[in-house]
Amino acid sequence: MSVAARLAEVRSMIASACARAGRDVAEVTLVAVSKTHDAALVREAYAAGQRDFGENYVQELTAKRDALADLDGLRWHFIGHLQTNKARAIAPFVATVHTVDSPRLASELDRRVAAAGRVVDVFVQVNVGGESQKSGCAPAELPAVLDALAGCASLRLRGLMTVPPHTDDPAGAAPYFAALRALRDANGGAARMPDLSMGMTHDLDVAVAQGATVVRVGTAIFGARG
Ligand SMILES: *Cc1c(COP(=O)(O)O)cnc(C)c1O
Repeated sequence: MSVAARLAEVRSMIASACARAGRDVAEVTLVAVSKTHDAALVREAYAAGQRDFGENYVQELTAKRDALADLDGLRWHFIGHLQTNKARAIAPFVATVHTVDSPRLASELDRRVAAAGRVVDVFVQVNVGGESQKSGCAPAELPAVLDALAGCASLRLRGLMTVPPHTDDPAGAAPYFAALRALRDANGGAARMPDLSMGMTHDLDVAVAQGATVVRVGTAIFGARG
């Protein structure tokens, strides 16, 4: 199946999930996660109308950005663990960073984005499952990260992001997505954080039912990763 056909399928899955949840499909942004896949496939998705793309690794992101600099209006989302010393490499062009998880990373990213004369949208990544191998701040650390962001003039807080623990049944992700939404509601609500970045190929339906406004989908669009 072509990337265009797969994209159409994912868009219709999102539309059905929204219909079931009584939500407007316009509330949900699809980020196409292109990590490990060739820039040519990003080009195909762009030709099919996709504009938001996600990458996990700084080097791979900057290489693809260079290879695809001719694509107007393409928005790059950084969704991987960001080391403080790599903030500078993406600050000049990234649209959204989904993985701010410490006051230190917030202030370094802010400094680099300000130096580039830009403003970048950010999410705070929360490790709601408390898994030691996953990045993201602990729920108890969230207020401190949000306080730090309030002082970052070049970062615009959009909301919270999470990657739940894997469960074979996608429904197993629901309590983690609900927990992320509850954290948002306990820390200023939608007025402060309009967006929830949650849901991937395996559990995007469940995420939409739990209020996701951004879903990050790789495999269903680009195929399995090597
Ligand atoms: C790889 C990745 C995705 C996409 O996962 P798929 O299962 O391929 O849809 C989404 N979010 C993050 C943070 C990822 O690392």
